[in-house]
Amino acid sequence: MNQAKGGRPEVGRIEVITGPMFSGKSEELIRRLKRARIARQQVACFKPDIDLRYHRTAIASHSAQTHEAVTAPNVAHLRKALYPQLEQVEVIGIDEAQFFDEGIVQLAGELVHMGKRLVLAGLDTTFTGEPFGPIPALMAVADEVTKLSAVCMVCGAPAIHTQRLGTSRELVVVGAAGMYEARCRACFRPYLEERESEQMELPAAD
Ligand code: ADP
Ligand code: MG
Ligand code: ZN
Repeated sequence: MNQAKGGRPEVGRIEVITGPMFSGKSEELIRRLKRARIARQQVACFKPDIDLRYHRTAIASHSAQTHEAVTAPNVAHLRKALYPQLEQVEVIGIDEAQFFDEGIVQLAGELVHMGKRLVLAGLDTTFTGEPFGPIPALMAVADEVTKLSAVCMVCGAPAIHTQRLGTSRELVVVGAAGMYEARCRACFRPYLEERESEQMELPAAD
């Protein structure tokens, strides 16, 4: 563990930025990483290789802001890419953290123990409204959780849900334009198509 002035151990920090799609998680992550670089801190940024929006060497927001990033297919690869430069790196950003396995929680624990600042962004719920992968556990061990809302595309209220549009059931369909929109609790319809087709099968009331 790094020693700060006065012999007090320099402790690390885990920050989680969460919320539905379009809530500005990537924007906020990019903002924090850019500010760290302005403060002349060494920054390393990673993302899973599931997000093929824009390019493989950067993270990007829906508002077209970007930050250089390394693509890692899993936590083992992320660790391998990070550890050789770990001595210099002070701030570690991870976007779309929901797509990493539970090993990310252990890695976050190790890094924070070494005095690193971690900023992790990821979806808190899936399009069916369930907790998403390692994000709940990361939120539990975080020093600070920022839960952002988007704007509901039906009524304009603050949105906490990600609505899947169309019929695909696959959990991981990332960045496909027009496939998702933000919805508030009242307008969110998980399994919309299934419910509609069930209703259509009801016998006529006569
Ligand atoms: P996230 O990483 O949470 O998906 P981004 O940081 O990529 O979000 O994008 C946030 C930006 O998306 C906003 O600043 C805004 O320009 C745009 N945007 C598009 N649709 C919405 C919406 N429904 N609510 C809020 N912002 C939206
Ligand atoms: Mg994002
Ligand atoms: Zn709404």
